[in-house]
Amino acid sequence: MAFVSRAVRTAWLSPRSCMVSKRRSHVFRSVSELRSHRRDLLLAGKTIGLVPTMGALHAGHLSLVRRAAEENSHVFVSIYINPTQFGQNEDLASYPKTWDSDMALLQDLDASLKESGSGGRVEAVFAPTTKEMYPTVPPDSSLPGKGTFVTITPLAGLLEGRSRPVFFRGVATVCTKLFNIVQPERVYFGQKDVQQSVVIKRLVKDLHMPIDVRIISTERESDGLAMSSRNVYLGERRRAVGVVLSRALRAAETAYKSGIQDRDGILAPAHAVLDSEAALQSRLADDESARFEVDYISLADSDNLEEVQMVKPSQGAVLSGAIKMLPLTTTRTDERLGQGEDKLPVRLIDNIILMPKP
Ligand code: AMP
Repeated sequence: MAFVSRAVRTAWLSPRSCMVSKRRSHVFRSVSELRSHRRDLLLAGKTIGLVPTMGALHAGHLSLVRRAAEENSHVFVSIYINPTQFGQNEDLASYPKTWDSDMALLQDLDASLKESGSGGRVEAVFAPTTKEMYPTVPPDSSLPGKGTFVTITPLAGLLEGRSRPVFFRGVATVCTKLFNIVQPERVYFGQKDVQQSVVIKRLVKDLHMPIDVRIISTERESDGLAMSSRNVYLGERRRAVGVVLSRALRAAETAYKSGIQDRDGILAPAHAVLDSEAALQSRLADDESARFEVDYISLADSDNLEEVQMVKPSQGAVLSGAIKMLPLTTTRTDERLGQGEDKLPVRLIDNIILMPKP
């Protein structure tokens, strides 16, 4: 960070209107200011990679930014917690907000991009207000709700969409807005949210958006847990048990790799891992256990996410799952609790692509 002056750092750290610094680091709150800057870049023949996020950045987000910098001269990162994708009983109010550390992480990454001397830089952060993003009617996450929405059926109603009926309507709507505002050449999404990546590819294709959608592999903790902004809600007890989802999916992947192609043969090992962990937790005392519910374990077609009975080796498939870590009923004074003291349920999702076989 040595190269960044105090004034420049302040520019990064304050979500004020259109901050311009010596280092060309910008934070935009308004659409019009961002657009005017984007127009200048277009006229100068620059390319833009957009990384949409809700902040609370971690190494998974940064891997998207890094890839965007490899493939574009300028990277825009949006940080916006989009209300329309949260159901009415979900965690909109408590969603982690870590503006200062987000900016510090992006600043460090930008410095290392500069040092490497190749590829693009983190040019701008777009952190709009909700009034800016929803200029006519307030954001609504009820059904059918009031507003201008983008819906993708039946894709958005499968898997995650079954438990979170407004989620993909909110995601598709806010991403359409972001794509229209930034007009990037490329957009970057994580494989971690596999259904989101399929929804975005469909959206871009069906609405004829001139954008290349790039999907970047999932960053994991050393034990396999997929990184997620929501992992901060997991204290050590729930964190240790939460890895069961990735273990279960890996067991199914091993079955596929061993040559099994039918649904039951692939999914049985995943269910066995989940059942055995659930049984173990149910035998433990309340102040020792971390219980969870399985929402779904899916084996689906990679293009439309419809369930498949048999994996065609030439096509492969997507293995995915979601579990809900239940709130702890009894906590101990000697344990490290998560944000919210482990009183909130935490939904964990994960997936593995079963690659086509030659
Ligand atoms: P979010 O801030 O959770 O909306 O995520 C913003 C983007 O980062 C999405 O495209 C996510 O799929 C992606 N992302 C989140 N977690 C990871 C991860 N562990 N590895 C790679 N990408 C991720």
